[in-house]
Amino acid sequence: MAYDDQNIFARILRGELPAIKVYEDEQVLAFMDIMPQADGHTLVIPKTPAITLLDLPPDAAAYTIQVVQKVANAMKKGLDVPGIVLMQLSGESAGQTVPHVHFHLIPSSVHELGKHAAQMGDQEKIKVFAERIKAAL
Ligand code: 5GP
Repeated sequence: MAYDDQNIFARILRGELPAIKVYEDEQVLAFMDIMPQADGHTLVIPKTPAITLLDLPPDAAAYTIQVVQKVANAMKKGLDVPGIVLMQLSGESAGQTVPHVHFHLIPSSVHELGKHAAQMGDQEKIKVFAERIKAAL
């Protein structure tokens, strides 16, 4: 399958769609999930166009994981959460809904995860969590 450069995350990366960003550098962007499964649900994406983790060049994957760790530490500190579920869906059959590789960081427990990409969150409330993560970075 070819990478679709009109997917939502590609459009966010180009600045065509808004996002509540918490971290950005030349290679990676971290922003808040629009339909959070828990307060503070954050997504980390490489800027490299790749559909799944399996398509991502190893160097980009390694760097993205470093940022995942950095953001997860900031979430732990800024949101005062004890644990974070790290989720990565590769492929539609795994439940992936946006065809640009991304890591979910969900301050929750695997036993309490909400429904996936099911309910729009309160964007003003999401911004407050974003500010707390940013302050801890
Ligand atoms: P996937 O199902 O591909 O693993 O996860 C895609 C995630 O992107 C879902 O958790 C969904 O809530 C989120 N999402 C979908 N559309 C948008 C959007 O336009 N903006 C943001 N920030 N998140 C989105």
